[in-house]
Amino acid sequence: MTPLSIAVCGGGVGGMAVAIALRAQGHHVTIFEQAPQFGRVGADVNLTPNAVHALDRLGVGEKLRETAARPTHRISRAWDTGEETSRLPMSTDAESRYGAPQLTIHRADLLAALEAKLPEGVIRFGARVAGITQDADKAQVRFADGQERDFDLVIGADGIHSAVRTALFGPDDPKFTGLVSWRAVFPRERAGDIPDLDAFTKWWGPTADRQIVTFPLTHGKEIFVFATNAQEGWIEEGWTLPGDIEELRAAYADFHPEARALLDACDSVTRSALHVREPMEHWSVGRVTLLGDAAHPMVPFMAQGACMAIEDAIMLARAVEGCSSAGLPAALQAYERARIPRTAEIQRSSLANEWLKTKGNADWVYGYHAWSAELA
Ligand SMILES: Cc1cc2nc3c(=O)[nH]c(=O)nc-3n(C[C@H](O)[C@H](O)[C@H](O)COP(=O)(O)OP(=O)(O)OC[C@H]3O[C@@H](n4cnc5c(N)ncnc54)[C@H](O)[C@@H]3O)c2cc1C
Repeated sequence: MTPLSIAVCGGGVGGMAVAIALRAQGHHVTIFEQAPQFGRVGADVNLTPNAVHALDRLGVGEKLRETAARPTHRISRAWDTGEETSRLPMSTDAESRYGAPQLTIHRADLLAALEAKLPEGVIRFGARVAGITQDADKAQVRFADGQERDFDLVIGADGIHSAVRTALFGPDDPKFTGLVSWRAVFPRERAGDIPDLDAFTKWWGPTADRQIVTFPLTHGKEIFVFATNAQEGWIEEGWTLPGDIEELRAAYADFHPEARALLDACDSVTRSALHVREPMEHWSVGRVTLLGDAAHPMVPFMAQGACMAIEDAIMLARAVEGCSSAGLPAALQAYERARIPRTAEIQRSSLANEWLKTKGNADWVYGYHAWSAELA
């Protein structure tokens, strides 16, 4: 097999995962990341067993476990009475049922674990992709500084505002959902006697726009809190902005005391707008394709954004395995045929925000194995 020259546009979770998988097949892979370096931006990532299973085989599992927490259960509770409406055992039960546990980790620690698998020079920082063109034999990546380079395969892993997606399918701004998300992390000792801090717990509000989710980070030494509420319009720029903790507490003043105690333990909070797009019919044109948020941004109510990017990465690498440059367009069609039904279902189900509110089926999400799932 002749190694392919591959550009991965975007060095987020999906971009680095696909680069590791493709390098393991012997290809020449370069990641172009617009940021000058990775910072500790963003708080949490919840990796459910489907994603941990994929990452373990990619060889990053050990590094993840150096800092990740391992939630004991996935619990649903009612916002007012505190009644438990569902409780799934995770940890060792998930490991024996799905082949991997759930892990919850700082986003920066997940990126560091992936970066550690890539030799120096694979990631080019400060390289912003501005456009893509292609002919029968090669795809050309154009950078913001005016330079251009040719590749056999180009992967758009450049997130919700993907420049690669725009180049392939035209401009199409993501839609503001009318929901703002709040995120905070606090040291566990501040939590007092709040129960089940080692579990993933979702407090379901009276309407779908209000909920509080909490889970452990950093081997349980820190506790993460996520909440949402409705807001008319979003005009601010940026993924994560400082929020007002008193405003958040006031929005949840009618919740159960144990839910309010979580917000009382936070001393600062960030605020972000939640945007979505409709599921797409295609992700690929010729020898260029998309993965992760570039292809299927979703609201975080099933906590599957990063997990789907990781599954995409493994499936894409499997689809192009052993492929010649000429065979890439067909391989990319097989990849998107295998992935679009699953990611579209998770996009829609996340938006509906009912999954596991009471007893429900987690197997179709957690039991997916990207290393062996069928490729058309
Ligand atoms: C800064 C940040 C913080 C986040 N924090 C959280 C969080 O706390 N909790 C959570 O659940 N989810 C968070 N997310 C979202 C979550 O990480 C994604 O849903 C998931 O990781 C999808 O992965 P992805 O690789 O498809 O996209 P992303 O993780 O969004 O990665 C896309 C990458 O592409 C880069 N990029 C974008 N445009 C270009 C371009 N034109 N040229 C080159 N590079 C480009 C970006 O800088 C980024 O590194 C965050 C995302 C970002 C970008």
